[in-house]
Amino acid sequence: MGPLFWVNTAYSYAVVLSAASSVWRLRRSTRGLLRRQATTMLVAVLAPLVCNLAVVLPGIALAVDVTPLAFAVTGVLFAYAVLQQDLLRLVPVARSLVVETVTDAVFVVDFRERLVDVNPAGHALLRPDAGPRDAVVGRPFGDLVEAVVADSVRAGEGETVVRLAGGNHLDVRTRWIRDDRGTPLGRVVVARDVTERLQAQRALERANERLRDQVATIERLQADLAEEAARDPLTGLRNRRRFVEDLTARLRTTVETGRPLSLVLLDVDHFKAINDAHGHAVGDDVLVEVARALGAHARPEDVVRYGGEEFVVLLPHLDTDAARARAEDLRAACAGVRVGVESLRITISAGVATAPEHGTTPDELLLSADRALYEAKGGGRDRVALAD
Ligand code: GH3
Ligand code: MG
Ligand code: MG
Repeated sequence: MGPLFWVNTAYSYAVVLSAASSVWRLRRSTRGLLRRQATTMLVAVLAPLVCNLAVVLPGIALAVDVTPLAFAVTGVLFAYAVLQQDLLRLVPVARSLVVETVTDAVFVVDFRERLVDVNPAGHALLRPDAGPRDAVVGRPFGDLVEAVVADSVRAGEGETVVRLAGGNHLDVRTRWIRDDRGTPLGRVVVARDVTERLQAQRALERANERLRDQVATIERLQADLAEEAARDPLTGLRNRRRFVEDLTARLRTTVETGRPLSLVLLDVDHFKAINDAHGHAVGDDVLVEVARALGAHARPEDVVRYGGEEFVVLLPHLDTDAARARAEDLRAACAGVRVGVESLRITISAGVATAPEHGTTPDELLLSADRALYEAKGGGRDRVALAD
């Protein structure tokens, strides 16, 4: 055991321990079968080391060198690992199989932008004139793929969707490959054809758009329908249905603000006689013209066809006196109504009621106006009467 023996021993120990520490790290980072493989290898590697220690350590220094015997143990353990634990077979084969068979294109490009590796799906994506798979390795990546793909990879780490000349869309994902110190060695590029996915996505967006349009149309139609239901088809005026609801709300404001709200109930005089003498159609014409005359003196939403030949005109903010004056205007306007029949002259009677003094609910106010109207009729028609 001269000096060179110790140099050799130190060197051998360093090599074996370094290998053992690699296996130890592998063992810690894996589980299951891979972990069991690592354990077997670790024991296999350390067996000769321990035996050799017994030979070389001065305190023990076995007379017989048992290290070669320990290598027999190593051999048996490695045989076990290879034959029973699928060492050297399972992992590398499975890995390359995955890369070889995936439908995603996989490229490895080095830091000089040369293609280092490519799987069959990746080879299918190269330019048609690129040549066979083993011939493309080592050539500049930019010469082998369309410019959009090369640009996307050159842009560095990230994901982009590019459009190929043929119209297909490619999702390109680029990742750096770095060594232990973080120095970039190259890039791994995974590309996938996403044309169908994009088409499906767009179809879905278009369907959604159509659905939104349809919902908007339905809502519009519903609104139209509600509006229609609130209107009288003959005169186009609002009908009684919505009016009472609306009047309730307005009367509430009247009570809150203390400002008056007047209402005129108008009724065409002897309308039955007009119908009887000239026919229903002329009667209808009279109603249309009366509605127009009333509309000319009030806001459209304030004129209501209350019943057959009865109308209500709301006069917001007018007190009884002002309302009476306005009712006289309305009466005069209706007296001026002319329809096709020359001899036909019409008159109306009106009853005026004002909130809050004649009532604060629609029922009270309308009843007051109705009583006043009855009084106007009784007084000889063609006149305006005020509620008490
Ligand atoms: P008064 O002066 O007392 O109000 O007499 P009137 O004839 O006007 O009163 P009455 O209530 O007896 O008659 C109302 C008539 O209005 C009866 C009905 O045939 C007619 N009428 C109701 N609605 C319509 C309509 O839409 N068109 C036509 N042409 N006539 C209608
Ligand atoms: Mg009537
Ligand atoms: Mg009448």
